[in-house]
Amino acid sequence: MPEPMKLPSKMTFEDPAEERLHRKQRLAATFRLFSKFGFDEGVAGHVTARDPERLDHFWVNPFAVHFGHISVSDLILVNHEGEVVEGDRPVNGAAFAIHSQVHAARPDVIAAAHTHSVYGKSWSSLGRPLDPITQDVCAFYDDHAVFDDYTGVVLDIEEGKRIAHAVGENKAAILRNHGLLTVGHSVDEAAWWFITMERSCQAQLLAEAAGTPVLIDPDMARLTASQVGSHVAGWFSFQPLYDRIVREQPDLLD
Ligand SMILES: [Zn+2]
Repeated sequence: MPEPMKLPSKMTFEDPAEERLHRKQRLAATFRLFSKFGFDEGVAGHVTARDPERLDHFWVNPFAVHFGHISVSDLILVNHEGEVVEGDRPVNGAAFAIHSQVHAARPDVIAAAHTHSVYGKSWSSLGRPLDPITQDVCAFYDDHAVFDDYTGVVLDIEEGKRIAHAVGENKAAILRNHGLLTVGHSVDEAAWWFITMERSCQAQLLAEAAGTPVLIDPDMARLTASQVGSHVAGWFSFQPLYDRIVREQPDLLD
């Protein structure tokens, strides 16, 4: 009998402390990967993970710490009023304003990611959704929104509520003149959607600079979305990236 093929599978937890540590490890790895991909821009950008017990609290990167330096022990826990209840560094006001409202509006969402990545913000200036021009971008077919407004740095939770409303039941939103926002049922998933959405923006910018891309038919785009755009597919796609960054930068787990 041949050995069964080995593939990573999603872990389940009985102990919330274990689940919390797992989410924090994935979150720290996400920052290291986002740094590697060049998604950092000064102090902008935040990725959050809901706490497994205190459901209106989330873990996030401390304000003004480089993504490339973040380890598990640097992550801070923020409550529903924007107060840091674990950790000794401050939270970015925009991280609280946006992510608290997204987490509140979407109880299914475990994690949300937002940065000022170059292709995402370039594409966002067009105020258009992404078109189904590649297999990969079909993950977002009928599953992303455009927040068609820009009102300065988001520091008001009312603005965060409007963004959350725009996200709706989708996995992502393009915030016009600002950048991308993705959500997921795991940190892994939200991180993967962010990475592949940023690259999809790059792909469409390149394709449109060169000519007129051929669109995938709606039926085929929907079928492809069901193949590459599920929660499990998003989680699964992140696993090799996690393994790579932990092997390369094991101190992220400190
Ligand atoms: Zn921003």
